[in-house]
Amino acid sequence: MKRIVLKHGEEDRIRAGHPWVYDNEVGKILDGFTAPSAGDPAPVVLLPGEVADVESSRKTYLGRALVNPNSKIIARIYSPSKEGMDKGFFKRRIREAVAQRTVGPSNYDLHRHSLRLVFAEADFLPGIIIDRFVGWPLNKVESAELESAVSLRPIMFEDAEAALGKPQSWIAIQFLSFGMDSRREEIIAALEEVLEQDGFIIPDGIPLGTSAGIVEKSAAKVRELEGLPLREGLIRGSFPAAGIVIFENGIPFMVNLIDGQKTGHFLDQRDNRRIAAAYAQAASAGKPVLRVLDVFSYTGGFGIHLARAGAAQVTCVDASAAALETVRINAGLNGLGDSITTVEADVFEYLRRRPAEELYDIIILDPPAFAKTRSALEGALRGYKEINLRAINMLKPGGILVTCSCSYALDEIRFRYMITEAAADAGKRLIMLDFRRQPADHPVLVGYDESLYLKCGFYRVAG
Ligand code: SAH
Repeated sequence: MKRIVLKHGEEDRIRAGHPWVYDNEVGKILDGFTAPSAGDPAPVVLLPGEVADVESSRKTYLGRALVNPNSKIIARIYSPSKEGMDKGFFKRRIREAVAQRTVGPSNYDLHRHSLRLVFAEADFLPGIIIDRFVGWPLNKVESAELESAVSLRPIMFEDAEAALGKPQSWIAIQFLSFGMDSRREEIIAALEEVLEQDGFIIPDGIPLGTSAGIVEKSAAKVRELEGLPLREGLIRGSFPAAGIVIFENGIPFMVNLIDGQKTGHFLDQRDNRRIAAAYAQAASAGKPVLRVLDVFSYTGGFGIHLARAGAAQVTCVDASAAALETVRINAGLNGLGDSITTVEADVFEYLRRRPAEELYDIIILDPPAFAKTRSALEGALRGYKEINLRAINMLKPGGILVTCSCSYALDEIRFRYMITEAAADAGKRLIMLDFRRQPADHPVLVGYDESLYLKCGFYRVAG
């Protein structure tokens, strides 16, 4: 086993829980198998994807890591002990991650709920993301005629189950590090064995069962930094061409794992959408026509929730025509008729062109990560501030701003300060109603701040 010995003083961040070793932190690389020989030993070279031990300059053991000498992140620690990386290891780790998700107040039921099963470093599987979607093929749901065209009633999970039987499941998987990418077959086999056989990890003891399809979504740009090509497509089973219907907070959504962005659906906003819907419900009780603007809407995650909660006019704005097509399908599944309007536009342009008299009761801002790295933060903050300032100006007195950022490089304090500045520039006073993060199936690893990435603030514009 090769040993990566850090330079003096470089171990503090790792001892605090951060799993990455950067190439400029490495003092020397030793070959653990060869006794020190006299004279100059041949330099030890790390091979992409191999496993090595990491030590401080004082030879304190820090953990076992996957290495990639072609990446700035030269090693990703996956275990504090000398644990090998084989199928048994993957099964153990996946089992632990799945079991974690069945406990606690979130009340996840893996037989019904779509969840992130593995969140990479934060589940001690560096560079692997696994989302599991539970539902039925869209065409089956549609042909079962569950929604009534007359009453425009939304489709319910129970109706679908009664008509179509138990839901199926599909997996979206991302391999984001070289070491994991080279072990993908082993990882998929381990995942399938855990889901098919390990009923004991689920409270009811019933195994989750075979996935109807596994779709690889390894198209994230970070793969290029690992020297990996972008890769997407079906790797096991099948995926319905028209997509599937999942239920989130009891609300049906069409998801297409093949064509969708990231893993197909942004599961991390599930709880924030539910809370936003609760605000809409409270507000619409006193107002017959609640107007909502959902910008960067993607497939309408927030907008559909708010319309279901009683918002009479919801405008979803996104640059992706495909996402907006799905918004319309979702409006249909939810019996929302014409309360949802879609607009294909660049959000910055769209907000700039709004007439001053166009005001809303609730505005959702859920942009993509503007700051993908720390060095991109300053420019990103200008973008965040611009959309927040414009949104604050477009809210009625008493209106609510739901504003998010999924850039890990933007911490909560700076995010809130950006909102403070935007409110000051708008000359408005804001009340912070709530400030939220990501849900429990996207765990946060203490010491690894990159894993605490989602911010979602709820603010009321003082009247
Ligand atoms: N709110 C969504 C997730 C948003 S993801 C949900 O709840 O599911 C970010 C979205 O912003 C993507 O759909 C992407 O197509 C869109 N987008 C990115 N840049 C944009 C821009 N400049 N103008 C409009 N849409 C943009």
